[in-house]
Order: sequence, then structure tokens, then C-alpha cells
Amino acid sequence: MANDVLNSLLKEYQQKKLSAEQQADIRKQKYYDLFPRLQEIDHELNFSAISTAKAILSSTDSNAIFELKERIKTLTQEKESILQENGLSLSDLKPHYECEKCQDTGYTINSQFTTTMCTCLKQKLLDISFHQSNMVNLQKENFSTFNENLFSDQPNVEKYRSSLSPRQNMKIIQKKCKQFVEYFDDSSQKNLLFTGSTGLR
Ligand SMILES: [Zn+2]
Repeated sequence: MANDVLNSLLKEYQQKKLSAEQQADIRKQKYYDLFPRLQEIDHELNFSAISTAKAILSSTDSNAIFELKERIKTLTQEKESILQENGLSLSDLKPHYECEKCQDTGYTINSQFTTTMCTCLKQKLLDISFHQSNMVNLQKENFSTFNENLFSDQPNVEKYRSSLSPRQNMKIIQKKCKQFVEYFDDSSQKNLLFTGSTGLR
């Protein structure tokens, strides 16, 4: 069950990641059509990045690597100024992920290459389990909506085996529940146990 939930969430993530990247491609193409120099720069930047990697791997003289890095710097600056002049920024060319931290993959990788579940995915799993449990009822059923008038103020010793009226009894129960919540962190606090006939809640 838990795996089904995770798998369907991951499918959703795949979809939104794909859609963010497709949208970015459409935007990028639009800006390339408007400002062709941007496309030329991006081409050269890709080529320079590959050349730099090759140069580093083949231990080419450091001067060539320095020149390549300088060229990348100049091209990036030119690209930024074209964007700026037209009221755009680098982020307009990039995908707009719902979660930038994991780029809508649901997982993050740290500097030690360890993969961890992203907080966004954790939160979604928590939300689902919260909704699946009846905890969501807390929004409408809580202390502030408690209505003591729903309980009779007439004691009935024969029926309830108590001289207290149901209303008085409920007030005592409510007070104990509030105390329980208030001192929840206190390890000496005892648990609450509600019992009753089947079907009662
Ligand atoms: Zn995330």
C-alpha cells in the first residue's frame, strides 16, 4: 500500500518534471527566435564546456584551459547582458520546477553522492497518510467546536449508574482531555483510553 502511494507520487513527479522541461524548451526556442545571438552563444558555450573537459582530461597546457575558461566567462556575460537588455534573466531559459531543491525528482544527492528523499516528497507522503487517517476530522471536530448542550443535564442514576448528568460527565471528560493535551510532553502523564460498545465513537 505504502509502495503504491510512493510509486504513484513518483509518476506524478516524473510528469511534472517533464512538463517543466518541455515548457522551458518552448520558452528557450521562443527567445532564440527573437534573439538569434542567444542560440549562437549557447552553442558555443556547450562546445567550450566540452573542450574544457577534454583539455582537463588530456592534461593540455594550463594556458589553453585558462583561455577556454575566459571564453566561457565572456560568452556568459554577453548572454546575460542580452537577456538583461530585454527584461529577461537566466531563469527564463531554465525549467521552473515545483521544487528547485530536487528538481521534481523527489530525491536530492549530497556532496558525498548519498541520495535522500526530498522534504517535498516526505511532506506529500505525510499529507496522504494524514488524510487517510481520520486526523483530518480535527479541522471540524476539536475543543473549540465541542458543544456540551448536546448532552442532557438530567442525571439518570438507573441508566448511567452515576449521580452526574451526562453533561456534567462530559465536562469532566473534556477537562481531562485538555489536561492530557496540555501535558502531552510530560513523560509522567498517563495515556487516555476510551472504551464503549461497538460502533460508538
Ligand atoms: Zn523536492
